[in-house]
Amino acid sequence: MRIDTTALRLTLAYLLAAALWVLLSDQALIALGLPEDLHTRLQSLKGLLFVTLTATLLYAILYRHAVRYREKQRVITTSEERLRLALEATHNGLWDLDMASQRVFFSDSYAALLGIDRAALGDTREQWIEYVHPEDRERVLQKIEVNLQRADYQNTYRMRHADGSYRWIHSRGSLLYNAAGKPMRFIGIASDITQRRADEDSLRQAAAVFDATQEGVLVTDAEQRIVHVNPAFSRITGYASEEILGQMPTLLKSGRHDEVFYHNMWQALQQRGAWAGEVWNRRKGGEIYPQWQCIRVIHDTQGRVSHYVAVFSDITALKRSQRELDYLAHHDPLSNLPNRLLFTERVAHALERSSEEQPGAVLLIDLDHFKHINESLGHNVGDLLLKAIGERLQQVIPSGCTLARLGGDEFGLLHDQCGEAALAAELAQQLLHSLEAPFRLDGHELYISASIGISLFPHDADSVEQVLRNADSALFKAKSSGRESFAFYEQELTDYARQRVELASSLRHAFENEELRVFYQPLHDLRDGKKVGQEALVRWQHPERGLLPPADFIPIAEDNGMIAAIDLWVLEQACRQMVRWNQEQDEPGFVAVNVSSRLFGRGELDLRVAQVLAETGLDPSQLELEVTESAVMEDPAAALSLLKRLRALGVRLAIDDFGTGYSSLARLKRLPVHKLKLDQSFVRGLPNDAEDAAIARAVIALGHNLGLKVLAEGIETAEQGDFLRNLDCDYGQGYHFGRPQPATSPVSPKPEAQQLPLSPED
Ligand code: C2E
Ligand code: MG
Ligand code: MG
Repeated sequence: MRIDTTALRLTLAYLLAAALWVLLSDQALIALGLPEDLHTRLQSLKGLLFVTLTATLLYAILYRHAVRYREKQRVITTSEERLRLALEATHNGLWDLDMASQRVFFSDSYAALLGIDRAALGDTREQWIEYVHPEDRERVLQKIEVNLQRADYQNTYRMRHADGSYRWIHSRGSLLYNAAGKPMRFIGIASDITQRRADEDSLRQAAAVFDATQEGVLVTDAEQRIVHVNPAFSRITGYASEEILGQMPTLLKSGRHDEVFYHNMWQALQQRGAWAGEVWNRRKGGEIYPQWQCIRVIHDTQGRVSHYVAVFSDITALKRSQRELDYLAHHDPLSNLPNRLLFTERVAHALERSSEEQPGAVLLIDLDHFKHINESLGHNVGDLLLKAIGERLQQVIPSGCTLARLGGDEFGLLHDQCGEAALAAELAQQLLHSLEAPFRLDGHELYISASIGISLFPHDADSVEQVLRNADSALFKAKSSGRESFAFYEQELTDYARQRVELASSLRHAFENEELRVFYQPLHDLRDGKKVGQEALVRWQHPERGLLPPADFIPIAEDNGMIAAIDLWVLEQACRQMVRWNQEQDEPGFVAVNVSSRLFGRGELDLRVAQVLAETGLDPSQLELEVTESAVMEDPAAALSLLKRLRALGVRLAIDDFGTGYSSLARLKRLPVHKLKLDQSFVRGLPNDAEDAAIARAVIALGHNLGLKVLAEGIETAEQGDFLRNLDCDYGQGYHFGRPQPATSPVSPKPEAQQLPLSPED
């Protein structure tokens, strides 16, 4: 039994006080020497006093003790209550193992962790262990054993819940010792950490994903300062995390996107809380690259923006392979030319932009008898040939055209600015021509020809399918007309274009073969009807087609550039003829020579004219050059200076076909010309057509006011001549005075036309 020192001290004090009282009070009574009965009474009174005093003292002590006990009891109950509430609130359970009895106390909250009654849990370790997961039991018990030797205890294991599931329980406790250092109790709390473990697991997984993912991840705070990046971010951008943390993502901007782009991005983030799209950013090294990026807004529990998370992947490689795929999808692997898909896309595009004024052409080029090459020499050689043909065709076509291999031995050519049928025909001719030279492949010398079908758009068709179908049927036509030729979808065009192409190629030989002729048409003074000169007009004596007027070949010569040579040749012929006439005739007047805008535009005309004059010895005053209005107005400044130089040579200048172009009167005023030639279209209706009459009158007045002479072209009747004379027109030209005819027979009995001209005197 433990001896309470306070109680012992009190008892001993009481014993001492009582003994002293008994001894001293008895001595004092004896010393008083009182009579016996008084002595006895006092003795009794003294005893009663003692008892009363000590009873009062005892009461005071007991009372104080009771108050203290109640207070303690209250404190204990309150703290027990607090403990219980705390355990309940924190979902912790209390366990308490009494070392002496080996009984365990489990709190209600402990039992609640497992969804059972405290009674079901029992009060022994053996009962308790039944609830622990069989796999954990041995480990748990071992740990308890070990911990029973130490003060601190922590353990985690699974326990079966009433619902059949296992819950992760984390238990902490400590061993309490008595004064003698002997373990008294093992006490602690247990809590269900199933959710926490799950959270931790998913956090661990998320962290692993964050670190291991190939996507770059960037997290900013609400102020857009970077607070977190993952290793992939560093790998893609080149920035180590310590370099970038605290910076703004704007550091990564490439400058490729405008304000609107970022504005839209922020708007999406504000409205939908997320944005995804392609962004071009800049790596640390400066390289700009595309990335696919998703940005999400993260809110805190109060709903305020707390973070932005951007996840992105570098799509450079993807883009590259997309481009490669796109190339593969649109090109023929053998020839590297665009394939049918790309070709039709381009045709569609060209068709959209085309108009009657700006037409385009599609040429289908099909090799003749290609099959034989494949069959006789094998596909390898066939492939090589196709490749070589593609390369050769590519060299011929004008820039801006699309040459495609449409499959097999068929090629397609798109020319989206093929002004007219003639150009397409010429191109086709060039393509055919380019294939004439043999191909030397793999030790073989191969000859191959092709047929070409041409469809013009939007003229022939207004859909891609139609354009291609037309070109195809034109191709069929070309093939059936004996191959190695071309055909248009429209028969007339085919004929016309073929003729033109033929003419163009034979025109080249017309010079060498001396087939060109110069005819002369007289020019008359309208007042006295006298001949004042003649105009030189070129003709082509075609071996098969007979005598061709300039309209049949001058446009071709203008297209293929031969016009300048023709003009210079006519100029020389006319000058020589004039020199001859000077010798033969009394008053041969002058000769007028036409100058095309092509030659005029070259600017060196004055030098050539001076050269011809010098060579032939003709007096410059006997030469008149006719330039059309449009030639002058094409480049007025250059024209003005050239005309001045020509005039300085002493030759005379006339504006041909006046009234058909768009002359600026202001410019016309300054031109150093001598004569206007009123175009024959305004003479044709005279004298009855009021409009023609008004124009004729106006042109004559205009010319005269500018100090120029006026010649009327195309006068066919005496009436027209009279009418114009009455309008004060200076000169006239036309069948009425004489048709163009060769110089060799100045009084030719057989002029160009059947109808004999009327002489002005008639
Ligand atoms: P142009 O210079 O206006 O020549 C007059 C044209 O009118 C000539 O046609 C002539 O035959 C025709 N003509 C003359 N009188 C009459 C008439 O009473 N009635 C009708 N209906 N026609 C008449 P051509 O010879 O066919 O020449 C046509 C055009 O070809 C010329 O028009 C000229 O612009 C051009 N040309 C002729 N020779 C040359 C040349 O050597 N070089 C150049 N660059 N162009 C030439
Ligand atoms: Mg003329
Ligand atoms: Mg004319």
